[in-house]
Amino acid sequence: MTEAPTTQEQYACAIHSMSLRVEAGRQGDADLLIAAGWSKSRFGAVMMRLHSEWDSAERRGCRIPRKPNRKQISLKAQEIARHARAETVEQVHSDQAKAEMAAAYEQELKETMRALKSLPAARLHLSIKLAMDGCQSAEEMAAAVLLHWLHPTCPACCGRKFQLVKWSEDELSDQACGGCGGSGQAPVPGGEAGKAGANYIDDCVGIARQSIRDKLRHTR
Ligand SMILES: [Zn+2]
Repeated sequence: MTEAPTTQEQYACAIHSMSLRVEAGRQGDADLLIAAGWSKSRFGAVMMRLHSEWDSAERRGCRIPRKPNRKQISLKAQEIARHARAETVEQVHSDQAKAEMAAAYEQELKETMRALKSLPAARLHLSIKLAMDGCQSAEEMAAAVLLHWLHPTCPACCGRKFQLVKWSEDELSDQACGGCGGSGQAPVPGGEAGKAGANYIDDCVGIARQSIRDKLRHTR
């Protein structure tokens, strides 16, 4: 009879499957184990701190990096093809566009990580949680979900909910934004796994808030 894996074995397996140690450079096994061992309340408290770090970074002009979409990649590929004086956009141009835009996104992500001190550790914890739940690209998913949580505003309408009147820069029409369907918020990235990650964050933040309220009540 095989025994079910212990939590520690699950952690070990999840950690082993990730490349974070190499990618983040300065994070070692110790950081991974610490982040893995956080309680929900601890993670929730870190997320609250992360949000206030984001608020002040945003005031300094920091922006959330967005993964390039298909349209942006195709525009970039057209530009590359034009520069190469090619008559049509070929696979090689699309590949180059994809690679360049992915590199730019990674670079922006690194800068955001540097600006938000709690982000690397929060990402580690969420990556481990997602990997343990069977998410294949846990690190990428964790970063996307965390950034969305910090700044869920729809990038197409910037949260205005409606499309602008043609040629106008600020006058709203009565047409709902096609990007968000009029909610002003972008959908959580990453389908079901992304939604599970976002729910986990909300759950943890709720627990952390409750524990702060409890402490305040006891000290009164
Ligand atoms: Zn929108």
